[in-house]
Amino acid sequence: MMIKTERILHLKSSRGGKVRVVREHYLREHVPCFSALCQAACHNEGKTLPEDVTHYVVPDAGVVRDFLEVLEFRELQGIVFMQTACQAAQHSRGRRLYNRLRSLLKDPRHDCIHFANEFQQYSYCPREKGETQEKWQTRCIYHAAVWYHDHLAGLRPVVMITEDQEAVAEFGSSASGIYVISTQEYLQSFWPDLLAAHELYSSICQALQERESESTEREYAEHFPAEVLEAGIKSGRFIQGTLNVNKHRAQHEAFVRFEGSTTKNSELNSDVLVCGGKNRNRAVHGDLVAVELLPAKEWRGRNTALHEGLGEDKAGEEPQSKPMPTGKVVGIVQRNWRDYVVTFPPREEVQSQSRNSQRILVTPWDYRIPKIRISTQQAEALQDHRVIVRLDLWESTSLYPNGHTVRVLGKSGELETEVQTILVENCINVPPFSEAQLRQLPESSAEQPWRVEPEEVSSRLDLRDTHLVFSIDPLGCEDVDDTLSVRLLPGGTRLELGVHIADVTHFVQEGSLTDLEARSRATTYYLADRRYDMLPGVLSADLCSLLGGVDRYAMSVMWQLDAQSLAVCKVWYGRTLIRSSYQLHYELAQSLLNGEQAEVPELDRLDDEAERCRRRAELLQALRLLTRVARHLRAQRDQGGALELEGVEVRAQLDSSKNITALVPRQPLEVHETVAECMIYANHWVARKIQENFPHQALLRHHPPPRQEFFNQLIDSARTRSFAINTRSNKALADSLDQAVDQRDPVVNRLLRMMATQAMSNALYFSTGACSEEQYYHYGLALDRYTHFTSPIRRYADIIVHRLLMAAINAERGLAPSKVLASNKDLEELAHQVNNRNRASQHAQKQSTELFQCLYFKDKDPLTDERCVADAVIYAIRANGMLVFIPRYGLRGPVYVKNRENQVVSVEGDGSCEWKAGALERQVDRISTTTSTGTHNFSIFDHITVRISVQPSRCHPLNLCLEVISSRPHQAPVAEAQPKGRGRSELVQEVVRLAEEASQQAEERKGRVPKLSKEQREFRQSKQPNLYSILQEIAEMALLDLHACEAPSAEVQTCSTSA
Ligand SMILES: [Zn+2]
Repeated sequence: MMIKTERILHLKSSRGGKVRVVREHYLREHVPCFSALCQAACHNEGKTLPEDVTHYVVPDAGVVRDFLEVLEFRELQGIVFMQTACQAAQHSRGRRLYNRLRSLLKDPRHDCIHFANEFQQYSYCPREKGETQEKWQTRCIYHAAVWYHDHLAGLRPVVMITEDQEAVAEFGSSASGIYVISTQEYLQSFWPDLLAAHELYSSICQALQERESESTEREYAEHFPAEVLEAGIKSGRFIQGTLNVNKHRAQHEAFVRFEGSTTKNSELNSDVLVCGGKNRNRAVHGDLVAVELLPAKEWRGRNTALHEGLGEDKAGEEPQSKPMPTGKVVGIVQRNWRDYVVTFPPREEVQSQSRNSQRILVTPWDYRIPKIRISTQQAEALQDHRVIVRLDLWESTSLYPNGHTVRVLGKSGELETEVQTILVENCINVPPFSEAQLRQLPESSAEQPWRVEPEEVSSRLDLRDTHLVFSIDPLGCEDVDDTLSVRLLPGGTRLELGVHIADVTHFVQEGSLTDLEARSRATTYYLADRRYDMLPGVLSADLCSLLGGVDRYAMSVMWQLDAQSLAVCKVWYGRTLIRSSYQLHYELAQSLLNGEQAEVPELDRLDDEAERCRRRAELLQALRLLTRVARHLRAQRDQGGALELEGVEVRAQLDSSKNITALVPRQPLEVHETVAECMIYANHWVARKIQENFPHQALLRHHPPPRQEFFNQLIDSARTRSFAINTRSNKALADSLDQAVDQRDPVVNRLLRMMATQAMSNALYFSTGACSEEQYYHYGLALDRYTHFTSPIRRYADIIVHRLLMAAINAERGLAPSKVLASNKDLEELAHQVNNRNRASQHAQKQSTELFQCLYFKDKDPLTDERCVADAVIYAIRANGMLVFIPRYGLRGPVYVKNRENQVVSVEGDGSCEWKAGALERQVDRISTTTSTGTHNFSIFDHITVRISVQPSRCHPLNLCLEVISSRPHQAPVAEAQPKGRGRSELVQEVVRLAEEASQQAEERKGRVPKLSKEQREFRQSKQPNLYSILQEIAEMALLDLHACEAPSAEVQTCSTSA
């Protein structure tokens, strides 16, 4: 039964006037209450409030609007968001609040629900004549709270919280079991120990108070209302895009990157430049904005010089490129504000700033974010600390945006604070795994190891007695997600190759807490000194790790190949049960292949000599067969044009407790490639399988071909050594890179490969329904279809792919799917989120590596310490300097040949350099300085000697400074005769050691014994860099700039062609 009534709404028209709208409104008797305590048999589907809470809490509209962040604390339980409160809050705060509220309500880890009180016949109350909107809303919510209490037969008290003192007075004690109190009183009475919530509450209160006392003088043009923006974007008058601030000229230069099809302005195929703060008009880096182009005569060029002194740059007089489309921001389509880490001003400044009020200007760590105005009484106490803040709003009357503090991270400069800063800045949220989540997982301990379940034995293909399965990984690897098998089939005409991957999805049920956590992390995060796992340790290091000698579940792909031609005859996919016989490491496998008498631990345990020999021969035969197959597969891809780019070239050597003892140059072992090739093959065949079964909703990974103009630097640089680089196709590029080898200097080829890598776009996940088939192509691997299947322990994409593969297998067997597959739209959204997290992971890894570099050099005297002087190779020329690569530390950065006093680097007869008055001339392949001493050319691929020092910074990340001290190669003393890359491991170790000593001393001073952190004890979020991270890091480092000196559009070109 439904009752029809009328509801009067007052809306704003696009011209700003008020419109009265009458809507039909239907009331129902039954509206689900979503409480487990329901006494009326409501139809409660999905998330419900549990029984074990002491009370329910109902925030009113104002609390939802202003204090949602406080309600977001997971400790707060039993929150009922009334429809009236949500709608009112959305109405005043827009889409950002709506999104926040929506994700809160969807998140099963949060104990809150939405109640549609306005549709409930008995809880709805119409607005009375003369009653203000706010009063009516508060009354509605109170009324609904009373209904809710009665509906649950008074089993739990209901607390309504409001900032409206009149409401407290009016309703405070008018019905028993319902309490109306202020937010502050609520926190004090119910959550006295939740200090973080109290602090956040008062920080928001202060921000709100300050807002009321603000001036009315206009600093910026008003933004157009949403309807005008929308119409303008449709008509082509405005361009919609994401604002990207140039971090080297943060005050002055920003670009709007428009989204391809949203613009009708077809002449526009570049970014739009936005110069200065007035034109940027309160848009913050990352916001989706609408811009209007300025007349062409006002267009300007982008700046092309290297920048010293990040952030504090001066406008004008700098070299500029040719004018480009230039515009101004006319409105914000969507704010994309996140949490920002800031530093408070020093004491003197606090005092002068806050003479009249408690407003402080704090400086964000990220150069691209403007200073933020905070209202706080703690400014003095928070000096030298890094603090998380959130932005509230940016009015046209205010030079700076307003914000409030959220949480203190710690003293700036301390390793932990700096690492936490990097995590927050990349929106990486990796709390310890929750108790509830761990409870859902099977247990396994040394006393009671986990065992296979009987019903799984019968439903899986059992390979334990039929297949010789083994793994080959880096020495010391704990999370083995892949194993291999290969054998000659009876009859001798066919081979069988098998790739067996940890069956993670058997343990991680879709929608379980572990699944949700893994999905939101999307990947394991590797920082320079630690990692944060995607899955809890019981899975990643135990149940899902395909260790030797134990039974494990696997997802397998097995190919039957013609023994002669190696053509594929048949492919089988499915769940298996395996027991790996050998856990080999790369060097061991290679020495076996080389016919050396290497010791295999699994064999040495055998007493029977004859058996040992037989098994050894069997293993060797398998390894040889595998090598033959992999060579064939690689040759096939090479013909298709697969690229080999600058990759891992050093490896870490670990001692028994997994400490790195050295990084030694990688022996290019064929077995690395053999294993990689088999994994690529498995990924490719799984991609085919899921794409064929789900042409519109399979998760694949593509690598778009690079834009030709990104190759210009590579081509120009190679030409200086008379190498022709052909970038017409991936095959041509791969071939010409192979040719470009300078016999006298191996670094040349390495740098060229590095530049090629930099020109590449990122490989990305996508849903098959979102792209046309030509766009499925993986350029780097030269494959028509590709996905990620082989590392489900550390990548969420592989978990999705495993589920899709099982769905495909079941569909072919005629079994009904156990779950509805994600739609193309949902999958594309998920792909987007995983891509985004991968980017965050790369950035965090890069920033943590830079942090370690800076901390390493920070306490060394650059004038006397040998370690601060190194050989560097020039690989690019800029207007006032060059970019160099330092092989010893694997780092890259700018070297200036002109300083702020307009002096240039003068080279003396012995190669030593000093600053003198003089002139500068730049060519494509060199930059020359002329002074009274003479002229010197710095050319691409020249080796020079640089001094490394640290540029201190209070608010921003530290920076390395590279200064040329000799135009000649560095005469390597003892240290540099050491293996390449050794400096890097030393660097991480030394910084960690110093930080630990410092914190130990601090603890001792406090009279406490340092303890292992909770994370270290329970969650394997290890402090030791694991082997994978080191290898990965070094691989990536070669690809990353110290400062990306290119314009923003090229800035994110750090490549991952990683398979
Ligand atoms: Zn109910």
